[in-house]
Amino acid sequence: METLVEGKNLKAYYVLEFWGKKRTIRAVDNVSLKIFSGEIYGIAGESGCGKSTLLKTLLANLEPPLRLFGGELNYWLDSKPVNVVSLKEEERRRLKWRFISYIPQGSMHVLNPVKRIRDTFMEILKSHVRRQKETFLEMAIEHLKALGLPSRVLDMFPHQLSGGMRQRVTIALATLLKPRIILADEPTTALDVVAQRAVIQLIKKIQKELKNTIVLVTHDMGIHAQVTTRMAIMYAGKIVEEGPTLEIFKEPLHPYTRYLIQSLPRVGDKQLREGIPGSPPSLVSPPSGCRFHPRCPHATQRCEEEEPVFLEVNPGHRAACFLLGG
Ligand code: SF4
Ligand code: MG
Repeated sequence: METLVEGKNLKAYYVLEFWGKKRTIRAVDNVSLKIFSGEIYGIAGESGCGKSTLLKTLLANLEPPLRLFGGELNYWLDSKPVNVVSLKEEERRRLKWRFISYIPQGSMHVLNPVKRIRDTFMEILKSHVRRQKETFLEMAIEHLKALGLPSRVLDMFPHQLSGGMRQRVTIALATLLKPRIILADEPTTALDVVAQRAVIQLIKKIQKELKNTIVLVTHDMGIHAQVTTRMAIMYAGKIVEEGPTLEIFKEPLHPYTRYLIQSLPRVGDKQLREGIPGSPPSLVSPPSGCRFHPRCPHATQRCEEEEPVFLEVNPGHRAACFLLGG
């Protein structure tokens, strides 16, 4: 598989100042990953584990208080690595929409409430496509049709659409210029089950039609199971397991992943599933050794003192836990 994005030892921290005191939140702490061309790569974990920050880092969207403290980020454009962090603002902007597209959490903000959807579509086309203006409307209609969305939405204002349709329109907008990679942050959160299903189907359809790469952040393991091809599980700023989604669900290696899968509701369940004991740690002063040790039923003295290495246990399936050796 062809590598499209490669992050090496990424450290992205928020540096906040309160009354003259500095606080550093280690939201992404030494994360390495490779994203391949044409896959749907999922990033999972409880809220506050660094998923959204990792996505922002992958976008090189590092605005204060977020800063890159270490590591390297390369995008393989035309088979050559490009260090996107060192690009000038202008060069990065040129990559946006065409090469990289971002669907932020609560993406309703992407649509301008006082503009018809049509105008937002036209604006993007005008600023990025060198073609006769008369063809723009046609392009927008064609794109919506290809994604199975009604073209009448173009005449509407965002508030006239349901939450689910608004989200699908936002995704259509993000894919208008057929970017090679789309990074989406919790695109289904806050939607009802029916709307969630529609958004999931849309994401799958986009990947099939455009054959592009999608990075999907969601805390919802059920969605990862349905959509992603490979996935990473994050805990307290680190990736603790990564592998093919099917394999992770069949044979989770890390105790934390097992908890996440166990807490999924199942068809026919009458009772609430068991949650994960304890709560996620602070990223200002994370636990020593294995960061999961205060919540892990298998923790030993060693887990408190040493950090387990990220080991490849099966081909392409890695995890960081002393139970797996290392
Ligand atoms: Fe649990 Fe230790 Fe494995 Fe961490 S390294 S997950 S504390 S057994
Ligand atoms: Mg988030």
